[in-house]
Amino acid sequence: MPYDLVVIGTGPGGYVCAIRAAQLGMKTAVVEKRSTFGGTCLNVGCIPSKAMLHASELYEEAGESFVHMGIKVGTPGMDLPALHKYRLQNVDSNVKGVAFLLKKNKIDAFQGAGRIVAPGKVEVKAADGKTTALETKNIVVATGSDVARLNGIDIDEKRIVSSTGALELPVVPNKLLVVGAGIIGLELGSVWRRLGAEVIIVEFLDHILPGIDREIANQFHRLLLRQGLVFKLSSKVVAVDTSGKTLKAKVEPAAGGAAETLEADVVLVAIGRVPYTEGLGLETVGVNKDNRGRVMVDPHFKTSVEGIYAIGDVIAGPMLAHKGEEEGMAAAEIIAGQAGHVNYDVIPNVVYTKPEIASVGKTEEELKAAGVAYSIGKFPFSANARARANLATEGFVKILSDAKTDRVLGVHILGPDAETMIAEAAIAMEFGASSEDIARTCHAHPTLSETVKEAALAVDKRAINM
Ligand SMILES: Cc1cc2nc3c(=O)[nH]c(=O)nc-3n(C[C@H](O)[C@H](O)[C@H](O)COP(=O)(O)OP(=O)(O)OC[C@H]3O[C@@H](n4cnc5c(N)ncnc54)[C@H](O)[C@@H]3O)c2cc1C
Repeated sequence: MPYDLVVIGTGPGGYVCAIRAAQLGMKTAVVEKRSTFGGTCLNVGCIPSKAMLHASELYEEAGESFVHMGIKVGTPGMDLPALHKYRLQNVDSNVKGVAFLLKKNKIDAFQGAGRIVAPGKVEVKAADGKTTALETKNIVVATGSDVARLNGIDIDEKRIVSSTGALELPVVPNKLLVVGAGIIGLELGSVWRRLGAEVIIVEFLDHILPGIDREIANQFHRLLLRQGLVFKLSSKVVAVDTSGKTLKAKVEPAAGGAAETLEADVVLVAIGRVPYTEGLGLETVGVNKDNRGRVMVDPHFKTSVEGIYAIGDVIAGPMLAHKGEEEGMAAAEIIAGQAGHVNYDVIPNVVYTKPEIASVGKTEEELKAAGVAYSIGKFPFSANARARANLATEGFVKILSDAKTDRVLGVHILGPDAETMIAEAAIAMEFGASSEDIARTCHAHPTLSETVKEAALAVDKRAINM
């Protein structure tokens, strides 16, 4: 009997889609070419990077701020192999968790590379060359993304690494050169700086974190400089000479001009990610892609071929795990005849550095470009009692609301535990809240989240503690 649904790829998009489909009574299978489930996110992305960020942040705290609270630990040491073991254990428990969930939901899992040979037909080629033919009413492509590469610079994952190699470095490099000041470059650059590397980040643009509210990004840039990260903005790495003991990166001004040479032990290429559709057979069956190689879908995640859908990093939109999860659930519901939907106006985005950045909704730049009149409320963590008690006073909350209706249009947080607080903003926006609604919601004291309430009060110029 054919499947109702075959999902190709088991990242956060694919496995969530499969589980939702099974919940809705569909006979479901997944195909995964990696030896473990969970995709980029669980194996080499979100989870291992957060393990490294968490451990390296505590390591730095133990050496720097503990003493100010009267805690004596001496000079902390770092056992790098033990740190890597902790990272891998974390990955292992998460990928096994997905295997358990697939089984629990009675989803058949096929290990191997999936190829769509015709609508309703998927061929799975296992590592030993054996093939299995699957018949299905519907197919969801959830094959994710791959590292974007720089022309002429070969990633060997040892000295010239992508994020994958950067998670696994066996020794702390003396000098790490990061190409790209986006989220991944700043997160992994922060990890290795905390562990002792000298880190220089080369960025093509004249600012860091493209897409993040500029005021937040600029203040964050100043904080990172204070932490010891070195930036070379408006610059591009055009070649890396690997012949000597140290790498020699040729760096030119973005606009062209005289090149300089920067030496490093390791170069991390973190210029973004590209959709991954290799070997899927999309061209053969006639699934259209856009000029950036992304699978084109309509608002119901349908591709140009009947019965074939796509979700996650392989389609347009922010390359984020939770965006893929939402799409996975919505696609399964749509296939089941329900009204699945993703609200792209409320997709939070987090940078897990110290302090963290978390945002949802529009930036000031976007509102200006769209000609929307807006009000701003800001409140600094330095005026929040809990942040002061925690010795974590850097940053601020910024709320942007519609000048006429007061509806919240964007919330941007630079500060401690921004990752948790942004959920409050997302819920508020999902329910169409005004800044007045947030301001009139009782927030527990003393909590960091009072900063969100104060920023909401500040929209109407009536913050209390400032
Ligand atoms: C270092 C790093 C840190 C990140 N941190 C975060 C974070 O903190 N938060 C966040 O939201 N996002 C983060 N991301 C991004 C996040 O990992 C991706 O957005 C997310 O994994 C995309 O999910 P997906 O399901 O679309 O695809 P993926 O997770 O990429 O999964 C696709 C799966 O499909 C499989 N596959 C591909 N082709 C085939 C085929 N033909 N047959 C069978 N299987 C196939 C692949 O092996 C893979 O397992 C991070 C990424 C990186 C690299």
